[in-house]
Amino acid sequence: MLKDTIRTIPDYPKPGILFRDITTLLADGAAFNQAVAQLTSPWTDARVGKVAGIEARGFIVGAAVAQALGTGFVPIRKRGKLPGDTVSVSYALEYGTDTIEMHRDALHAGERVLLIDDLIATGGTALAAVSLLRSVEAEVIGAGFVIDLPDLGGAAALRDTGILVHSLVEFPGH
Ligand code: AMP
Repeated sequence: MLKDTIRTIPDYPKPGILFRDITTLLADGAAFNQAVAQLTSPWTDARVGKVAGIEARGFIVGAAVAQALGTGFVPIRKRGKLPGDTVSVSYALEYGTDTIEMHRDALHAGERVLLIDDLIATGGTALAAVSLLRSVEAEVIGAGFVIDLPDLGGAAALRDTGILVHSLVEFPGH
C-alpha cells in the first residue's frame, strides 16, 4: 500500500509534529510510479494547461505529473529564488509570515492550472499558491496532494474556494 511507503518521523522539525516523510515513497520505484499515476488520472480529460508545484517536494511530484499529462511545469518558490520579474503572496505561519513567488509571465490569463504539493495540512501554503495563480488570472481547476491531514482542514478550505481537491493518502490527527 502506498501509505506503508511513507515514513513518519516524530518530533521533526519540532516537538509534537509527526513529519510525514515521502523520501521513502520516492525511493520505491513502484510506489513513486503509482503515486504519479494516481495524481494524474483524475485530470487526464481536464484540459490542464500547466502544472504548478510548490517548493520543494511539490517540484518532485509536480514535475512528474506534468510529464505524465504532457504539460509544462511552473515552479512556485520561496522568496528571492526566481531570477525574473515575479508576483508574490505572503501568508501567516504559526509564528510570523512566509512569502511565495512565481514568475509573472509563467502563465497567461485563463490558462488552466493544476496545483500539486506533497502534503496539505492547514492549507495556508496551498491557499497562498491559489492567490498567486489567480493574481495572474490563471484558472485553478484542481489541486492534488500525496498526503492529506484532513483534521487540519486545509483540503476543506481549498474546496470552499471552488477547487477540486484529490489526495492519495490520509493521516487522521495531525
Ligand atoms: P500547510 O500550509 O499547513 O497546509 O502545510 C503544508 C506544507 O507544509 C507542505 O508544503 C508540507 O510539505 C509541509 N508540512 C506541513 N505539515 C507537515 C507534516 N506533518 N509532515 C510533512 N510535511 C508537512
